[in-house]
Amino acid sequence: MTDTIDIAANLISIRERIAAAARRAGRSPDEVMLLAVSKTHPVALIEQALAAGQRDFGENLVEEAWAKFGDATSATASPTPPSSSEFPQAARPRPHLIGPIQSRKAALAVACRPALIHAVDRLKIARRLDRFAAEAGLVLEVLLEVNVAGEASKFGFTPEAVGREAEAILALPHLRVRGLMTIPPYVPDPQAARPHFAALRGLRDQLAQRYPQADWRTLSMGMSHDFETAIEEGATIVRVGTAIFGSRET
Ligand SMILES: *Cc1c(COP(=O)(O)O)cnc(C)c1O
Repeated sequence: MTDTIDIAANLISIRERIAAAARRAGRSPDEVMLLAVSKTHPVALIEQALAAGQRDFGENLVEEAWAKFGDATSATASPTPPSSSEFPQAARPRPHLIGPIQSRKAALAVACRPALIHAVDRLKIARRLDRFAAEAGLVLEVLLEVNVAGEASKFGFTPEAVGREAEAILALPHLRVRGLMTIPPYVPDPQAARPHFAALRGLRDQLAQRYPQADWRTLSMGMSHDFETAIEEGATIVRVGTAIFGSRET
């Protein structure tokens, strides 16, 4: 018995499972990015994952992303990144913001210079992010979060709303829409999520036809318990926390 988590071994095993799921679906494993969800876990564990070759990390809370990664793209950016984010130059992590962003956190979200914002879930936050990105001279890569299951408690556009609002979001010059993201209702059996993943892919295909001016290829879907099913249904990014870093309840 040990409470030490072997992050390097977990990453190897998950990469193997990703590759196997991709091949089962007749896809290339290179089409699927592993996003290591490091929320609640300390920088020491992120450094272990970096040492094992992992580069993309997901955080739910903007302040936590800032505290851990600062502005990961530049050691000399202003405001100065916190000292915990001074990762070695050769192994810079790429932070992704995967949680809903409150309006008053939009400026800090932009300051993080995220590789990708996964959860743009309303026009208002898209406009605010666009404004702060313009001030910072950046173009932000974003995904639109869709609540495909229609759960009342969940964030995200309804499938109808995303079709309506996409045009206004695509017109924002400092956002670049790359695709869709979803979090299906939690059910332990991964097969239960399959119809939701398929629905997101179908919606993406419709949007790509209707709005060909954007590149809709990214589908961020699948977590520790269901990422293989998500890959079989077309995921290009899987967001895996527990299966890499262990339980967040400890
Ligand atoms: C926490 C979280 C994950 C990772 O969940 P695990 O079950 O630990 O893999 C993925 N996506 C989002 C949006 C999350 O908040």
